[in-house]
Amino acid sequence: MANQSSHTDLLSIVVPFYNEEEMIGRFFREVCSVMETVPNSRFEIVCVNDGSRDATLPLLLKQAAHDSRIKVIDLSRNFGKEAALTAGLDHSTGDAVIPFDADLQDPPGAIPDLVSKWREGYDVVLAMRAERTTDSYAKRNSASMFYRVHNAISELPIPENAGDFRLMSRSTVDALKQLPETRRFMKGLFAWVGGKTAAIEYVRQPRAAGASKFSGWKLWNFALEGVTSFSTLPLRVWTYIGGATALLAILYTAYLIVRTVVHGIDVPGYASIITAILFLGGMQLIGIGVIGEYVGRMYVESKRRPVYIVRNFYKGGETPEAISIDEKYQSK
Ligand code: UDP
Ligand code: MG
Repeated sequence: MANQSSHTDLLSIVVPFYNEEEMIGRFFREVCSVMETVPNSRFEIVCVNDGSRDATLPLLLKQAAHDSRIKVIDLSRNFGKEAALTAGLDHSTGDAVIPFDADLQDPPGAIPDLVSKWREGYDVVLAMRAERTTDSYAKRNSASMFYRVHNAISELPIPENAGDFRLMSRSTVDALKQLPETRRFMKGLFAWVGGKTAAIEYVRQPRAAGASKFSGWKLWNFALEGVTSFSTLPLRVWTYIGGATALLAILYTAYLIVRTVVHGIDVPGYASIITAILFLGGMQLIGIGVIGEYVGRMYVESKRRPVYIVRNFYKGGETPEAISIDEKYQSK
């Protein structure tokens, strides 16, 4: 909970790292120097190595070796950002927790503002992107379309222009940890948990180094995940589409009967039949596809696999020297 000056708050910064070797030195320099300016607080940085194939892990361990504020959780493979974030949240111990990207697209300078807002008594402080000019035109448009569709059809709106960068109180994080699903669409889960919410604005920066890990196809699947995790409308809508189609078919049949009675039987009709068959066939396939999306997710969920597997956990300050495991990383 937020509290008075007599007490120091522990702030947890939770950061997923996937092939971010170029970012690490700069990341800790910038984040630590900002965190040291937050009054009445201590901090920990919970780093999750999400199966990086570059020097990310040894470089993280090098940082952690002499800094007890840095924890490193090494996952057994690449589980994806949502799972990595979940791992980090699970291992965070702070009174307030801040998910943060390794690429410094979210300016660390906004963190003190999040903290002071939280100290006014909020459970969640959103960091809203004031503008998205650093994202490409296509990404901005597809993102805004996603939010529009998602918020129109799910019971739970998620705030547009708020990423994962935000501050959550301990009680909010504990609530989040109770959600049992293994496919974790974090933005939606954050919204589901709720809490007394405030917002601040910040300008999102371009990536400081390295490349984005999200391609168009990955983003599309991410969007599907979001919609199917929080709405069953795509499933239910087929009842209505089917009903409307059946009604039209009945009307058309009635028209045909009347026409046959009045004009007698005429043979032509190939065009209307083939159109109807193709159209209905297409609709049925789409309907089956939508059901497939949900059934597939139920299948995955029903296996109850853990969200991530931790290979190793390193507590900062006591990282064994032997950690510079791989010789090829020595030079970095
Ligand atoms: N990330 C991760 N696992 C992945 C993909 C990304 O942990 O499979 C991390 C990545 O290292 C970064 C954050 O998630 O800290 C956001 O990734 P990125 O900057 O590539 O996403 P974008 O900002 O382009 O949406
Ligand atoms: Mg980024």
